[in-house]
Amino acid sequence: MMTPGGSNYEGINESHGADYGIAPESDGFRASPYRKISSLKRDISSNTAVHELLECPVCLNVMYPPIHQCPNGHTLCSKCQSKVRCCPICRHDLGNIRCLALERVAESLELPCRYQVLGCQDIFPYNDRLRHEQNCRFRPYNCPYAGAECPVTGDIPFLMAHLMNDHKVDMHQGSTFNHRYVKSNPHDVENATWMLTIFNCYGYQFCLHFEAFNIGMAPVYMAFIRFMGDDQDARMFSYTLEVGANGRKMTWQGVPRSIRDSHLKVRDSMDGLIIQRNLALFFSGGNRQELKLKVSGRIWKEQA
Ligand SMILES: [Zn+2]
Ligand SMILES: [Zn+2]
Ligand SMILES: [Zn+2]
Ligand SMILES: [Zn+2]
Repeated sequence: MMTPGGSNYEGINESHGADYGIAPESDGFRASPYRKISSLKRDISSNTAVHELLECPVCLNVMYPPIHQCPNGHTLCSKCQSKVRCCPICRHDLGNIRCLALERVAESLELPCRYQVLGCQDIFPYNDRLRHEQNCRFRPYNCPYAGAECPVTGDIPFLMAHLMNDHKVDMHQGSTFNHRYVKSNPHDVENATWMLTIFNCYGYQFCLHFEAFNIGMAPVYMAFIRFMGDDQDARMFSYTLEVGANGRKMTWQGVPRSIRDSHLKVRDSMDGLIIQRNLALFFSGGNRQELKLKVSGRIWKEQA
Protein backbone atom coordinates (compact mmCIF):
# COMPACT_ATOMS: atom_id res chain seq x y z
CA MET A 1 0.00 0.00 0.00
CA MET A 2 1.33 3.39 -0.92
CA THR A 3 0.64 6.04 1.61
CA PRO A 4 1.24 9.71 1.26
CA GLY A 5 4.03 10.99 3.47
CA GLY A 6 2.96 11.54 7.00
CA SER A 7 -0.26 9.62 7.02
CA ASN A 8 1.27 6.55 8.54
CA TYR A 9 3.59 8.29 10.89
CA GLU A 10 3.13 10.97 13.36
CA GLY A 11 6.16 13.08 12.66
CA ILE A 12 7.05 15.30 15.54
CA ASN A 13 9.76 17.70 14.61
CA GLU A 14 11.96 19.52 17.00
CA SER A 15 14.14 21.24 14.45
CA HIS A 16 16.51 23.86 15.62
CA GLY A 17 19.88 25.18 14.65
CA ALA A 18 21.22 27.82 12.45
CA ASP A 19 21.02 28.39 8.77
CA TYR A 20 24.37 29.96 8.16
CA GLY A 21 23.04 31.68 5.12
CA ILE A 22 25.78 30.61 2.78
CA ALA A 23 24.19 31.27 -0.56
CA PRO A 24 25.22 29.39 -3.67
CA GLU A 25 27.29 31.69 -5.74
CA SER A 26 27.81 32.00 -9.48
CA ASP A 27 25.88 28.81 -9.82
CA GLY A 28 24.88 29.17 -13.41
CA PHE A 29 28.17 30.44 -14.70
CA ARG A 30 30.55 27.57 -14.58
CA ALA A 31 33.09 27.42 -17.38
CA SER A 32 31.82 25.54 -20.34
CA PRO A 33 33.86 23.97 -23.10
CA TYR A 34 31.27 25.21 -25.56
CA ARG A 35 30.83 28.58 -27.08
CA LYS A 36 28.26 30.86 -25.58
CA ILE A 37 25.13 32.17 -27.18
CA SER A 38 26.14 35.83 -27.14
CA SER A 39 28.97 35.30 -29.59
CA LEU A 40 26.80 33.25 -31.88
CA LYS A 41 23.55 35.11 -32.01
CA ARG A 42 24.10 36.28 -35.56
CA ASP A 43 24.98 32.85 -36.92
CA ILE A 44 21.87 31.44 -35.32
CA SER A 45 19.43 33.95 -36.76
CA SER A 46 20.94 33.59 -40.21
CA ASN A 47 20.31 29.88 -39.84
CA THR A 48 16.64 30.30 -39.00
CA ALA A 49 15.46 29.17 -42.42
CA VAL A 50 17.53 26.03 -42.15
CA HIS A 51 16.19 25.38 -38.68
CA GLU A 52 12.67 25.59 -40.02
CA LEU A 53 13.59 23.04 -42.67
CA LEU A 54 14.76 20.74 -39.90
CA GLU A 55 11.48 20.84 -38.02
CA CYS A 56 9.45 17.67 -38.51
CA PRO A 57 6.03 18.70 -39.92
CA VAL A 58 4.32 16.00 -37.86
CA CYS A 59 5.78 16.20 -34.33
CA LEU A 60 7.42 19.64 -34.70
CA ASN A 61 10.66 18.38 -33.08
CA VAL A 62 14.05 18.97 -34.63
CA MET A 63 14.85 16.07 -36.95
CA TYR A 64 18.00 14.05 -36.41
CA PRO A 65 19.49 11.62 -38.92
CA PRO A 66 18.14 9.42 -40.32
CA ILE A 67 15.81 11.99 -41.90
CA HIS A 68 13.22 10.55 -44.26
CA GLN A 69 11.35 11.91 -47.25
CA CYS A 70 8.48 10.92 -49.49
CA PRO A 71 9.02 10.45 -53.26
CA ASN A 72 7.92 14.09 -53.70
CA GLY A 73 10.58 15.36 -51.29
CA HIS A 74 8.51 16.09 -48.14
CA THR A 75 10.67 15.37 -45.11
CA LEU A 76 9.81 13.90 -41.73
CA CYS A 77 11.65 12.48 -38.73
CA SER A 78 12.39 8.78 -38.34
CA LYS A 79 10.07 8.43 -35.36
CA CYS A 80 7.09 9.76 -37.30
CA GLN A 81 8.13 7.87 -40.42
CA SER A 82 7.78 4.61 -38.50
CA LYS A 83 4.26 5.56 -37.43
CA VAL A 84 2.67 6.68 -40.69
CA ARG A 85 2.22 4.84 -43.96
CA CYS A 86 1.73 7.74 -46.35
CA CYS A 87 3.22 11.21 -46.54
CA PRO A 88 1.38 13.56 -44.13
CA ILE A 89 1.67 16.38 -46.72
CA CYS A 90 0.85 14.79 -50.11
CA ARG A 91 -0.52 11.37 -49.05
CA HIS A 92 1.87 9.57 -51.37
CA ASP A 93 3.16 6.18 -50.19
CA LEU A 94 6.24 6.85 -48.08
CA GLY A 95 8.57 3.99 -48.87
CA ASN A 96 11.95 4.17 -47.18
CA ILE A 97 13.82 7.09 -48.69
CA ARG A 98 16.54 8.94 -46.77
CA CYS A 99 17.11 12.65 -47.29
CA LEU A 100 20.91 12.64 -47.25
CA ALA A 101 21.28 16.24 -48.39
CA LEU A 102 19.29 17.57 -45.42
CA GLU A 103 21.17 15.23 -43.09
CA ARG A 104 24.45 16.74 -44.33
CA VAL A 105 23.13 20.27 -43.81
CA ALA A 106 21.91 19.32 -40.33
CA GLU A 107 25.30 17.97 -39.34
CA SER A 108 26.96 21.28 -40.18
CA LEU A 109 24.68 23.25 -37.85
CA GLU A 110 25.08 24.43 -34.30
CA LEU A 111 22.03 24.57 -32.10
CA PRO A 112 21.27 25.90 -28.63
CA CYS A 113 20.45 23.37 -25.92
CA ARG A 114 16.73 22.68 -25.68
CA TYR A 115 16.85 23.84 -22.04
CA GLN A 116 17.86 27.34 -23.10
CA VAL A 117 14.64 28.71 -21.61
CA LEU A 118 15.67 27.14 -18.30
CA GLY A 119 19.03 28.91 -18.35
CA CYS A 120 21.43 26.78 -20.41
CA GLN A 121 23.66 29.03 -22.50
CA ASP A 122 25.47 26.35 -24.45
CA ILE A 123 25.55 25.91 -28.21
CA PHE A 124 26.31 22.54 -29.74
CA PRO A 125 27.33 20.98 -32.96
CA TYR A 126 24.22 19.25 -34.19
CA ASN A 127 25.29 15.73 -33.31
CA ASP A 128 26.52 16.56 -29.80
CA ARG A 129 23.35 18.29 -28.78
CA LEU A 130 21.27 15.23 -27.83
CA ARG A 131 24.08 13.81 -25.72
CA HIS A 132 24.46 17.12 -23.89
CA GLU A 133 20.74 17.44 -23.27
CA GLN A 134 20.65 14.08 -21.51
CA ASN A 135 23.11 15.46 -18.96
CA CYS A 136 22.41 19.18 -19.10
CA ARG A 137 22.46 20.62 -15.59
CA PHE A 138 19.47 22.76 -16.50
CA ARG A 139 17.32 19.80 -17.46
CA PRO A 140 14.24 19.53 -15.24
CA TYR A 141 14.34 17.41 -12.09
CA ASN A 142 11.78 14.75 -11.31
CA CYS A 143 9.57 15.37 -8.30
CA PRO A 144 11.41 13.80 -5.32
CA TYR A 145 8.20 12.75 -3.60
CA ALA A 146 8.66 9.01 -3.31
CA GLY A 147 6.19 6.23 -3.73
CA ALA A 148 3.59 8.10 -5.71
CA GLU A 149 5.36 8.03 -9.06
CA CYS A 150 4.53 11.67 -9.45
CA PRO A 151 5.08 12.77 -13.07
CA VAL A 152 5.79 16.42 -12.26
CA THR A 153 9.16 17.80 -13.38
CA GLY A 154 10.72 21.23 -13.08
CA ASP A 155 13.49 23.28 -11.58
CA ILE A 156 14.09 23.33 -7.81
CA PRO A 157 11.98 26.41 -6.91
CA PHE A 158 9.09 24.99 -8.92
CA LEU A 159 9.39 21.58 -7.26
CA MET A 160 9.57 23.16 -3.81
CA ALA A 161 6.27 24.94 -4.39
CA HIS A 162 4.82 21.73 -5.81
CA LEU A 163 5.96 19.64 -2.80
CA MET A 164 4.38 22.02 -0.33
CA ASN A 165 1.18 22.81 -2.22
CA ASP A 166 0.38 19.47 -3.82
CA HIS A 167 2.04 16.93 -1.53
CA LYS A 168 1.71 18.96 1.70
CA VAL A 169 5.29 18.13 2.66
CA ASP A 170 6.65 19.70 5.83
CA MET A 171 9.53 22.10 5.45
CA HIS A 172 11.87 22.97 8.28
CA GLN A 173 14.52 25.63 8.59
CA GLY A 174 17.97 24.78 9.84
CA SER A 175 20.72 22.24 9.53
CA THR A 176 20.06 20.16 12.66
CA PHE A 177 16.95 18.20 13.36
CA ASN A 178 15.35 15.89 15.81
CA HIS A 179 12.54 13.93 14.33
CA ARG A 180 10.31 11.38 15.99
CA TYR A 181 8.60 8.65 14.01
CA VAL A 182 5.67 7.03 15.77
CA LYS A 183 3.67 4.13 14.45
CA SER A 184 1.18 2.15 16.45
CA ASN A 185 1.19 -1.09 14.47
CA PRO A 186 4.80 -1.65 13.40
CA HIS A 187 4.25 -5.34 12.71
CA ASP A 188 2.43 -4.85 9.45
CA VAL A 189 5.40 -3.36 7.68
CA GLU A 190 4.49 -2.78 4.09
CA ASN A 191 6.80 -1.87 1.31
CA ALA A 192 6.76 1.79 0.51
CA THR A 193 5.55 2.98 3.86
CA TRP A 194 7.46 6.17 4.10
CA MET A 195 7.69 9.80 4.98
CA LEU A 196 9.38 12.84 3.53
CA THR A 197 10.51 16.02 5.27
CA ILE A 198 12.34 18.92 3.63
CA PHE A 199 15.12 20.89 5.31
CA ASN A 200 16.14 24.30 4.17
CA CYS A 201 19.72 25.27 5.01
CA TYR A 202 22.83 26.76 3.41
CA GLY A 203 20.59 28.12 0.67
CA TYR A 204 19.65 24.63 -0.50
CA GLN A 205 16.93 22.10 0.22
CA PHE A 206 17.42 18.56 1.50
CA CYS A 207 14.94 15.67 1.56
CA LEU A 208 14.92 13.44 4.64
CA HIS A 209 13.39 10.13 3.69
CA PHE A 210 12.20 7.64 6.28
CA GLU A 211 10.62 4.40 5.30
CA ALA A 212 9.83 0.82 6.13
CA PHE A 213 10.53 -1.96 3.66
CA ASN A 214 11.85 -5.49 3.49
CA ILE A 215 15.39 -6.49 2.59
CA GLY A 216 14.70 -10.04 1.52
CA MET A 217 12.55 -11.32 4.38
CA ALA A 218 13.91 -8.89 6.93
CA PRO A 219 11.79 -5.85 7.78
CA VAL A 220 13.88 -2.73 8.20
CA TYR A 221 13.54 1.00 8.60
CA MET A 222 15.75 3.28 6.64
CA ALA A 223 16.53 6.99 6.77
CA PHE A 224 18.61 8.90 4.24
CA ILE A 225 19.01 12.37 2.82
CA ARG A 226 18.77 13.53 -0.77
CA PHE A 227 19.93 16.87 -2.10
CA MET A 228 17.67 19.01 -4.26
CA GLY A 229 20.23 19.85 -6.90
CA ASP A 230 22.97 18.29 -8.97
CA ASP A 231 25.48 15.74 -7.80
CA GLN A 232 28.46 18.10 -7.92
CA ASP A 233 26.71 20.41 -5.45
CA ALA A 234 25.46 17.51 -3.33
CA ARG A 235 29.05 16.48 -2.73
CA MET A 236 29.76 19.76 -0.92
CA PHE A 237 27.71 18.43 1.99
CA SER A 238 27.81 15.68 4.58
CA TYR A 239 25.25 14.58 7.09
CA THR A 240 24.83 12.36 10.10
CA LEU A 241 21.78 10.49 11.33
CA GLU A 242 21.53 9.01 14.79
CA VAL A 243 19.03 6.73 16.43
CA GLY A 244 19.14 5.02 19.80
CA ALA A 245 17.84 4.50 23.30
CA ASN A 246 18.71 2.63 26.49
CA GLY A 247 22.37 3.51 26.23
CA ARG A 248 22.72 2.22 22.64
CA LYS A 249 23.18 4.34 19.61
CA MET A 250 23.55 3.85 15.85
CA THR A 251 25.12 6.57 13.76
CA TRP A 252 25.28 6.97 10.02
CA GLN A 253 27.46 9.50 8.26
CA GLY A 254 26.91 10.02 4.61
CA VAL A 255 26.88 12.35 1.66
CA PRO A 256 23.47 13.46 0.41
CA ARG A 257 22.51 11.94 -2.92
CA SER A 258 21.29 14.19 -5.69
CA ILE A 259 17.61 13.83 -6.52
CA ARG A 260 18.87 13.00 -10.03
CA ASP A 261 19.25 9.56 -8.41
CA SER A 262 15.80 8.14 -7.88
CA HIS A 263 14.52 7.44 -4.42
CA LEU A 264 14.49 3.71 -5.19
CA LYS A 265 18.04 3.72 -6.50
CA VAL A 266 19.31 5.30 -3.28
CA ARG A 267 17.21 2.98 -1.15
CA ASP A 268 18.31 -0.13 -2.96
CA SER A 269 21.96 0.84 -2.73
CA MET A 270 21.34 1.08 1.06
CA ASP A 271 23.12 4.43 1.18
CA GLY A 272 21.68 5.47 4.52
CA LEU A 273 20.90 4.55 8.11
CA ILE A 274 19.33 1.10 8.21
CA ILE A 275 17.67 -0.13 11.40
CA GLN A 276 16.41 -3.68 11.67
CA ARG A 277 12.89 -3.86 13.03
CA ASN A 278 13.85 -5.80 16.15
CA LEU A 279 16.38 -3.15 17.03
CA ALA A 280 13.95 -0.38 16.15
CA LEU A 281 11.41 -1.87 18.56
CA PHE A 282 14.08 -2.18 21.21
CA PHE A 283 14.93 1.49 20.71
CA SER A 284 11.23 2.26 21.01
CA GLY A 285 11.08 0.89 24.57
CA GLY A 286 7.77 -0.23 26.02
CA ASN A 287 6.13 -3.47 25.04
CA ARG A 288 7.32 -3.66 21.41
CA GLN A 289 3.81 -2.87 20.22
CA GLU A 290 4.61 0.65 19.13
CA LEU A 291 7.36 2.12 17.01
CA LYS A 292 8.74 5.26 18.57
CA LEU A 293 12.02 6.18 16.93
CA LYS A 294 13.86 9.37 17.52
CA VAL A 295 16.11 10.22 14.60
CA SER A 296 18.39 13.17 15.05
CA GLY A 297 20.82 14.53 12.55
CA ARG A 298 22.87 17.32 11.16
CA ILE A 299 23.80 18.55 7.71
CA TRP A 300 27.01 20.49 7.23
CA LYS A 301 29.02 21.99 4.46
CA GLU A 302 32.46 20.52 3.90
CA GLN A 303 35.38 22.92 3.62
CA ALA A 304 36.15 23.47 -0.06
ZN1 LIG B 1 8.38 13.78 -36.32
ZN1 LIG C 1 4.85 14.00 -49.74
ZN1 LIG D 1 21.95 22.46 -21.79
ZN1 LIG E 1 5.14 15.50 -7.05
